[in-house]
Amino acid sequence: MDLTFDQRELEFRDELRAWLADNPAGDPPRDEDANYAWRRDFQRRLAAGGWAAVHWPREYGGRGATLTQSAIFFEELGRSGAPLPANVLGLLLAGPTIMTWGTPEQKDRYLAPIVTADEIWCQGFSEPEAGSDLASLKCKAIKRGDEWIVTGQKVWTSGAQYSKWCMLVARTDFDAPKHKGLSYFLLDMEQEAVQVRPLRQITGESEFNELFIEEARIPGANLLGGEGNGWKVALTTLMNERAGLAFFLQVRLRQLLDALLLEAGDRGLLDDPVIADRFGELHVKAEVLRLTAYRGLTAIEKYGQPGPEGSLTKWMWSETNQQLTQFAADVLGPDALRSGERWSYELLRARGNSIEGGTTEVLKNIVAERVLGLPKAR
Ligand SMILES: Cc1cc2nc3c(=O)[nH]c(=O)nc-3n(C[C@H](O)[C@H](O)[C@H](O)COP(=O)(O)OP(=O)(O)OC[C@H]3O[C@@H](n4cnc5c(N)ncnc54)[C@H](O)[C@@H]3O)c2cc1C
Repeated sequence: MDLTFDQRELEFRDELRAWLADNPAGDPPRDEDANYAWRRDFQRRLAAGGWAAVHWPREYGGRGATLTQSAIFFEELGRSGAPLPANVLGLLLAGPTIMTWGTPEQKDRYLAPIVTADEIWCQGFSEPEAGSDLASLKCKAIKRGDEWIVTGQKVWTSGAQYSKWCMLVARTDFDAPKHKGLSYFLLDMEQEAVQVRPLRQITGESEFNELFIEEARIPGANLLGGEGNGWKVALTTLMNERAGLAFFLQVRLRQLLDALLLEAGDRGLLDDPVIADRFGELHVKAEVLRLTAYRGLTAIEKYGQPGPEGSLTKWMWSETNQQLTQFAADVLGPDALRSGERWSYELLRARGNSIEGGTTEVLKNIVAERVLGLPKAR
């Protein structure tokens, strides 16, 4: 892939930079709910400026940006210090999945409110007994007349407390082989039968929740991709999850590294050859991550949707982010461990990086089997 930007890409970048300069996101509020409202408001401003869903086709409220422009968008967003839009799961996961599998009616109904953050989405995949092995999930959906009745439990559902809709995978056929008995639904969260209970994380936040679902009702029209096809539809969501964030995350990593470099410089630590050596190593890793994220674009250009290569970027990012935040603690000592400080937050939050969006072990399996073509583990 050619990594130099052409004239149109440079114009796109400059226009976006100017917009971000005129529309600064401001400082993130500390309170979790206020922080979420701030991100939602920022997404609304992005949407009003035509920047919320740059990679979506124009007919669905997007900007029809090329893949490279979309990469530029996430790089610039990260560089400006702006937050990820509040409806990130809607924009990166639900939207592209509905575009791939949805009926014209579903596209008409669901896509526009994702862009404007009027309807927030969450991802109801994981269950207490089914995380990496998603296909063994037990949440069941039984057809009754023209609707589905759903009962089960989901866990680690990020943003469920703010969501109107949930991408829900449930078992609809109990006799079929486990991958074939699943269906993918668009579940309305605003019903008594869906209870959301927050889970407290090591950082003190509650980004994610447990969902208790007791005979929730889903109209037949909210089945996505057809009965028994849930595994394939879910894979579309997962591939988009791993590929979509790559650019934003690699820029955030670079910013964190630069901030640490500054702090270490201020403390006169850069003359220490061991510290300088570790900075060098992290710099190389951050650069490799950036280039690998661009390489992932080639796969999307070839096949029309993200390939398994996205797993490699996700794995590299989580490993490097954990090394970087641990290194910050090593370099800054107790200052990086004080409660409420930026570095202590980053250190603690990074622990989940190698679990969320697919654990590192599982991503390694995918890279081994589907990218390198090695024999299957099982
Ligand atoms: C911050 C955060 C946000 C999340 N948000 C969401 C969300 O919004 N929606 C959602 O549905 N889920 C979400 N998750 C859940 C996440 O997808 C799961 O935690 C993840 O898939 C792992 O599942 P598990 O926790 O059940 O672990 P398990 O699957 O039980 O894995 C336990 C351990 O076994 C290893 N392991 C499992 N299978 C294999 C294998 N085949 N080969 C080698 N090792 C293996 C794993 O790597 C891990 O170390 C979130 C998680 C986090 C941390």
